[in-house]
Amino acid sequence: MHHPSPTPDDGSGTLFGLDALDPPGAGPAHVRQGPPFRDSATARRLLPVREIYAEPAAAASPRGRQILARFPGARLITVDSHWRIPGLHGNEGNVERWVRVKGETLVLGERKTFTVRPNGRSADWIAPGASNGCAMACAYCYVPRRKGYANPVTVFTNIDRTIAHLARHIAHQGPKTEPNQCDDTSWVYDVGENGDASVDALICDNTADLVHAFRQWPTAKASFATKFVNPDLLALDPRGRTRIRFSLMPPDDSRLLDLRTSPVAERVRAAADFLDAGYEVHFNLSPVVIRPGWEDAWAELLTRLDDVLPERVKRQAAAEVIMLTHNRDLHEVNLGWHPRAEDVLWRPEIQQAKRSENGAVNVRYRNQVKAAAVDTLRGLVHRHTPWLRIRYAF
Ligand code: SF4
Repeated sequence: MHHPSPTPDDGSGTLFGLDALDPPGAGPAHVRQGPPFRDSATARRLLPVREIYAEPAAAASPRGRQILARFPGARLITVDSHWRIPGLHGNEGNVERWVRVKGETLVLGERKTFTVRPNGRSADWIAPGASNGCAMACAYCYVPRRKGYANPVTVFTNIDRTIAHLARHIAHQGPKTEPNQCDDTSWVYDVGENGDASVDALICDNTADLVHAFRQWPTAKASFATKFVNPDLLALDPRGRTRIRFSLMPPDDSRLLDLRTSPVAERVRAAADFLDAGYEVHFNLSPVVIRPGWEDAWAELLTRLDDVLPERVKRQAAAEVIMLTHNRDLHEVNLGWHPRAEDVLWRPEIQQAKRSENGAVNVRYRNQVKAAAVDTLRGLVHRHTPWLRIRYAF
C-alpha cells in the first residue's frame, strides 16, 4: 500500500492509475501492442523488488534465474527454506513495513509436495499453487494465515513439476461425464488459491505456463480469482481453457477493504477484453460484507454490471457468492493499522466463532443472518442481473 496514513484509501479509486494506460482510441486491450505491462512504471510501483530470499536450488533453476534477471538491482539472500525466514514473516511491525515488504521482497522456493485437493464448490479440485502470498493487502484476506500478514509473494520455481503432476491427475480423471455446478463438461482446477495469479504474472511466467498447459487438456479447465487487472494475461491465448473470476464488491467497500488492488470499475471494464482474448469470464461476488446499507450498495453494483457489460459477457457469465469469513487473529492485527475496516468486518452481534483444526478462531455470520443475506443477494441478482447464473452461494 503506497499510502502511509492509517486510513489507507486514497479515495481516487485508481490506486495504480491503470486508467492512464488505456487512452481513448487505444483499441481493445487484447490487441494492445508494445512492451509488456509488467515492465511498465505502474507494475514496477506495485512490485519495486529490492531483495529476493531464495532457496539455492530455486535461485539456480531456470525460473529462478528468469526472476533474478527481471530484478537485477535486487539483493539476493540465500535461505534454507522459504518457510522459515526470520524477520520477514509474521505480524510484527507496522503496516508501512508490511506493505514495503509485500512490494519490495520476493521469496523463491521449490514446492516439495504436490497435492490436488477435492473442493466441489468453486472448483472440482484445488491444484498445488504456483505461489503463495500476495503483493496486495485486502483486510479480510486469509492467504497470510500461515506466514503472517507481512508475507510477500513466494514463487515456486519448479512449476514444471506442478504441471507434470496436474497432467497425471487430469489423465487419471478421464472425461467429466456428469455436469456439476463447477462446470458442465470440464474438471475445474483452481490454480490460485493462495495468492493472485494476475500479480504472479508480473513476476514470472508461472501463470502463463499454467494457462498454456491447460490449453492442451480438453477435459480440464484452470480457474483463478483475481482483483488485479494485468493486461499481459490478454496475450496468453487460453483458448477457453482458463476461467478468470473477477472478484467484485461495491466500490465503497472495496476502497475500504481491498487495498492495493485494481479498482472495481477497472475489473468490470476488463471483462470483455478477457473474454475476447479467449478466457471464460466469471465473477466472484465476494466477500459479501453485511453493513448498514449493504443491500443498496450491491443493488447499485449489479445495476452497473447490467448496464456496462456487453451481451457476449453476460451470455457466458456465472458467479460465486461468498459471505465474509473473518478471523480473530486477523481482527487483532487489523485493529492496529486499519481499525475502520474492522468496523464493518468484526460484528460479533451477528457473527459466530468456530475454532478450526489448526486452532485459529474463524468467524462467520450466524446461520440465520447468513441464510437471510444469501437470499437477499440472490433476490438482487434475480432482479438486476437475471442473466447472472449463481454457481454457488456460500
Ligand atoms: S488479492 Fe486476494 S490474495 Fe491478495 S490480499 Fe487480496 S484477498 Fe488476499
